Amino acid sequence: MDSPMNPELARMRDLAQLLRHYNRAYYLQDQSLVTDQEFDLLLKELEALERKNPQWVEDDSPTKRVGGDVIVGFETRDHLRPMLSLGNTYSQDELKGFHDRCCKALGFSPRYSAELKIDGVAISLHYRNRRLEYAVTRGDGLRGDDVTANVRTIECIPLVLKASAPLEAVEIRGEIYMDRSAFERINHNKREQGEETYANPRNFASGTLKLLDSKQVRRRKLSALCYQLDGDFDGMHRNAHHHLRMALLKDWGFPVSAHRIGPSTFEEVLRFIHRWQSTRTELPFDIDGVVVKVDDFGHREELGYTAKSPRWAIAYKYPAQSVQTVLQDVKFQVGRTGVVTPVAHLQAVEVAGTTVQRASLYNDAEMRRLDLHYGDTILLEKGGDIIPKITDVVLALRPDGAAAIPFPRNCPECGNPLLGQDALHYCANHRNCPPQILGRLEHFVSRKAMNIEHLGPETLEALLQLQIIQDPADLYRLSHERLSLMERMGERSRKRLLQSIEESKRIPFEKVLFALGIRGIGEVASLTLARKFQNMANLSVATRDDLLAIHEIGEKSADQILEWFADRQHQSLWQRLALYGLTMAYAPRHFGLPSAPDNGPSDLSLPRPLENKKLLVTGRFEQLDRETLKQQIEDAGGTLLGSISSKLDYLVAGTEAGPSKLRKVRDWGITILTEEEILKILQGNGERTP
Ligand code: NAD
Repeated sequence: MDSPMNPELARMRDLAQLLRHYNRAYYLQDQSLVTDQEFDLLLKELEALERKNPQWVEDDSPTKRVGGDVIVGFETRDHLRPMLSLGNTYSQDELKGFHDRCCKALGFSPRYSAELKIDGVAISLHYRNRRLEYAVTRGDGLRGDDVTANVRTIECIPLVLKASAPLEAVEIRGEIYMDRSAFERINHNKREQGEETYANPRNFASGTLKLLDSKQVRRRKLSALCYQLDGDFDGMHRNAHHHLRMALLKDWGFPVSAHRIGPSTFEEVLRFIHRWQSTRTELPFDIDGVVVKVDDFGHREELGYTAKSPRWAIAYKYPAQSVQTVLQDVKFQVGRTGVVTPVAHLQAVEVAGTTVQRASLYNDAEMRRLDLHYGDTILLEKGGDIIPKITDVVLALRPDGAAAIPFPRNCPECGNPLLGQDALHYCANHRNCPPQILGRLEHFVSRKAMNIEHLGPETLEALLQLQIIQDPADLYRLSHERLSLMERMGERSRKRLLQSIEESKRIPFEKVLFALGIRGIGEVASLTLARKFQNMANLSVATRDDLLAIHEIGEKSADQILEWFADRQHQSLWQRLALYGLTMAYAPRHFGLPSAPDNGPSDLSLPRPLENKKLLVTGRFEQLDRETLKQQIEDAGGTLLGSISSKLDYLVAGTEAGPSKLRKVRDWGITILTEEEILKILQGNGERTP
C-alpha cells in the first residue's frame, strides 16, 4: 500500500498548484480570482514551508517566479537587466524588520525614497539617440513582449527626449495604468449598450497593452509614470541617488509622480505611508501601496538582491477594503454534479462600489474555519472584481445563545446521505435529486453547449414537473401535442422552441460532448477529446491509458470520463441522442466548407493541406477572428508555433503585423501569407510550396 504523503509536502504541492492557477489568471487572462492580500498570504505560507523543507522545493515553484509568461502574438525580447518583483508586506512590524535589516547590513540608518505604488503594468522603455527604440513588458522577468507599437500610442510617453538627455542608450522603467475616470467612461458606455463591464483599471490596462490593434490601444487612453533610470551614460555615476535620477527623468520629459519623498528617514517614510492610506481614494488612479527604496545606489549595491527581488526595496501594501455586516442565514445549494455549496445570506452592505447580499462559503472546511453562528457579525472583503469573501467573525458581537450553523449530513434537496468530506461534500443521487437533474438540463441547453433558446430554468422545471421530460434526450421527442400540456406556452412559443431544438442537431460534436456535462470536462477538454477520438463510439470505449496518453487529460479527468461511460444510463443517453440525429463525430470546420454533421466514421478523409507545416499567426484579420483562424489551421493539419522562429514554414500576417517581425521572416526566407492566401489554402484552392 502507498504510504500517505507527508502533510507539509501535500500542503506545499497544493499551495504551489493554487498559486500557479492564480498567476495564470492574473498575468495571462487579466483576472484576479482572489484579493492580492489573500494571494500574498498563500505565497508567504509556501515560502515558510519551503524554508523549513528545502528538499521539497520545486524548480518552478511560484516563490521563484517573477510575473507571468510572454504572450503568443508578440515578438519577445530579453531584458538587459532582469525585471524583478518587489518583496511586499501588509504589516508595519515587517516594514520595521526591513529597515532593521538594512541598518544591520550597512552599519547605519540609510535614507529612503518613498513613492506611490501605482496599480498598473510594469514597462521597460529603451531610448537611443534620444528616441524611443523599443518597449517591453516584464513577462517572466527575463524576457518580455515587445509592445512598442502600443506604447507609442500613450501620449505622455515621450517618443523623443529633450536635449538635456544623453544620446547613449538608456533604459527607463515605469508603470502603465489607466485613470479611474477614463475607465469609468468606458464602463459607462458598456453599460449603456447593455454589455458586460470591465473589472478594474489594472486588469483593463494590462489587457489593453496586449491588444494587437494599436489603434484600439490609442482610443483607450492609457497613462504612465516612470520610476527608474538605468544605463551607462556620461554623468550617470554623478547621479547615483534615486531622487537625483527621478529629477533627471522629469527634466528629460518623462511623466514622474509628484507624490514622492526622499532622501528621507524611516520615520518620514512611515508618515508618508500613513498619509496616503487615508487619502489614496482622492488620487485620479488606483494605488495598492507605497514603494520604499534605499536612495543611495552605493548602499543598494551593498544590500544586493535575492533571486526574485532587491534587498534594498519593499512594497508596503494597503489591505483590501473590508466592511462589517450581519449573517442572516446559510443556504446549501446543490449543483448539477451534486456538489453542495454553502452560501451566506447577508444583510445588504456596500463594499468596493457594489451592494453585496450573498457570499459563497465554499465548503465545510471554510465553514469550520469561520465557526459561523446565526446572527454573527462578519467581516466581508472585496477588491476590484473579486467575489466577496467572508474573512472573519467579530466574536465580541455574537448574540447570546446564538446557535452554530452545521453542515448538513443529508442532501438538503433529496435527503440522501452526503458523501465526501472537508473541501467537498456531494449528493450521489444523480438520477433522482431534483436540482441535479434540472442543473444538467440547464447546462445541456446553455449557449456554450447545445444553444437551445426559449428554454429557461422555469420552463425546464415545469417540463420536469409535468414529467414531459426526464433527461436531455427527451427534449428531442417533444412535439406540439406534448408541449400543449404546458399551460402558459402559446403556439408561437412552442413553434420557436421546437425549431431551436431542431437546429441544435447541427451543433458540432465537441459541443455535444461538453453539453453532456461530464465532471471536469470543460469546453477545451471536450474539443481535445473530440479531435483525438473523432467520434463518440471511439471515446465511449477508450481505456484509461488511451485517455492518459492525451497531454491535457490528467488522472482525475480520465477517471471521471471512465466513470461517466461506466454508467449504463449515460450510455443509453448518448446513444438515444445519436438516434435523434445529434452530431456524434468530429468535423473540422474549414472556412468556406460546409460543416456538415456526419455521424459516420471520422473525417480523416478530409483534406489536410497544412499537414507537417509550422505556422505563426500575427496581426488582425478581416474575415474571421484569430482564434477561429488558428483552429482551422490546426484542423487542416498545421502546427502553430508560439513565437517567431527559423523553423517556420509560413507567417500568416494580418493587418498591423509588426514590421520588425515581417522584416525578420523575410530575411530568413520564410513565406508570408496574407489573409486571402491562407483562406484559399484552407479551402483547398491555394497551392503553395514553401
Ligand atoms: P508587485 O506588484 O507587488 O510589485 C512590483 C511591481 O510594482 C513592479 O513590477 C512595478 O510594476 C510596480 N510598481 C508600481 N509603482 C512602482 C514604483 N514606484 N517603484 C517600483 N515599482 C513600482 O509585484 P509583482 O511581482 O508585480 O506582482 C506580484 C503581486 O501581484 C503579488 O504580490 C500579488 O499581490 C499580485 N498578484 C495577485 C494575484 C491575484 O490573483 N489577485 C495573482 C498574482 C499576483
